[in-house]
Order: sequence, then structure tokens, then C-alpha cells
Amino acid sequence: MLKIGCHLSIADGFLAAAETIVRLGGNTFQYFSRNPQGGKAKPWDERDFQNFTDYAKTHGIENILCHAPYTLNCCSIHSETREFAKMIFTDDLRRLEHFPHALYNFHPGSHTGQGVEVGIDEIAEILNEVLYPEMKTTVLLECMAGKGSEIGRNFDEIAAIIDKIQCKDHVGVCLDTCHVFSAGYDIVKHLDEVLEEFDRKIGLERLRAIHLNDSKMPFASNKDRHARIGEGTIGTEALVRIINHPKLKDLYFYLETPNEEDGYAAEIALLKKAYRW
Ligand code: FE
Ligand code: FE
Ligand code: ZN
Repeated sequence: MLKIGCHLSIADGFLAAAETIVRLGGNTFQYFSRNPQGGKAKPWDERDFQNFTDYAKTHGIENILCHAPYTLNCCSIHSETREFAKMIFTDDLRRLEHFPHALYNFHPGSHTGQGVEVGIDEIAEILNEVLYPEMKTTVLLECMAGKGSEIGRNFDEIAAIIDKIQCKDHVGVCLDTCHVFSAGYDIVKHLDEVLEEFDRKIGLERLRAIHLNDSKMPFASNKDRHARIGEGTIGTEALVRIINHPKLKDLYFYLETPNEEDGYAAEIALLKKAYRW
């Protein structure tokens, strides 16, 4: 079965978000650990969590994906920003231990002028401080479009970060179709070659989730502007090939398309219909 969902708010709790995704036709969802700009997380609500867990079991929700706030930057030139990133990371990971096998996705960071090598070292340094062998969560590095001084614009940079991490068992990758297309990986015409390169440099076993987005921007533009499925430069056909690819078909897919609920429901329905496994 296709594991598909979209980005949802947990302002009304985990149970409410789970009910929403089921209503939209999905079986997983992504949520921000806290306000996307950073700030405080909602206090942990054990009762909501228990209700969510029961509901998830009976409604085919195997797992959900937590997304770190956008402001988290593990490789800023400013040490206060790096300290803040470490604090948020630690706090988010502590909460996620409530879940049996959570996924935590984050943007590797922007080196803000320090250079890629320093950036990679600083990201790995924070990961080595916050990851620990007994943890149950898997932390996912998201592939980025490469705007500004973003790190993770290619598979080499992602591989270089993972290479420096001690707790490698707890590290994976999230591939965002809009981002990689903008970064210059032609998933429209050369999906197999892109996946071969991913496998060679990172290892496909690390790929755990896909952000399924179309792109408003041209190929290799390094711009990060998501479009609705079929309304961008990637197109429905290429995105359908991705969900059906034998090496990708069992991953979790999340829509981060500019949509309201009815738009998400329509995209989920389209993708479920096109899924041939
Ligand atoms: Fe993201
Ligand atoms: Fe994304
Ligand atoms: Zn994006």
C-alpha cells in the first residue's frame, strides 16, 4: 500500500491531525515540531498521544514524520544560532522518544559564508552531540535546492556529513523532489541514474522518506518554490514514476504542495490511483 500523506498542523493535537489525514485519504503525515520559525513546542499531552496511538493502530497509520523548524541552522556563522539549533534538536529528539520509531527531518543548514567544509564539520559536530546509541528515532537530512549557502545541495555533501557521524545507525535521508530537481538532478528524464548516484554516494538504504512536490522553477535553478502536483516543471508523470519505482515504492511520501485540504485530498487520490503495487 502506498504510504502517503501531507504536511499538517498539530495545533489541535496528534489525534486531530491523524483524523484529518484519514479524512483526506492518507495514512501518514508530516508536522512541525514547533512553530516553523522556532519558538516553543506545545507542552507534551500524554492523553492526546495515547488517543493518537490507539487511533493510528486502527487506521493504518504506521508512522509520522516530524520536521524541524526552518530556523534551525547547525552551521551558522553565529555561535548563538548553532547553540539554539542544538537546544531545539535535543528537545525535539527527547519528545520523539515517546514514539516507537520516529522520523525527524531537518535541513542540514546554511553555512552563511563560512564555506561548505566548515559547514559540514559543524553540522556533524552537533549531530555527534545530540545523537546517542540507544535512541529510537532516525534523523533525516533533507536534500536541498542549493539556494544561498545551503548545504545538502548534492549527494556528496550529504554523504560527507553522514561520514563524520558516529551514530550512523540513526541517520537517514529525505529526498525532496522539488529540491533535487532544482539542485540539478534530473528525476524527470534520468530517474534511474539519479538513484544509482544516490546509492553509490549515500546508499539507498538510508533513503527513508520522500517529499513529493512539483516545482515552480526550472531545472537546476537552485530555487525552492514548491508547486502542486502536475502544475510545475516536474509534472505528474515523473512524480508517478517516482512513487512506483521498485526502489522507492515502500518509502513514506509527503506532499508539501501549496494546497488547502481539498487540494491535498485530490492529490492523494490521484497518487493512490496511479500506484500500481
Ligand atoms: Fe523541509
Ligand atoms: Fe521538503
Ligand atoms: Zn522546499
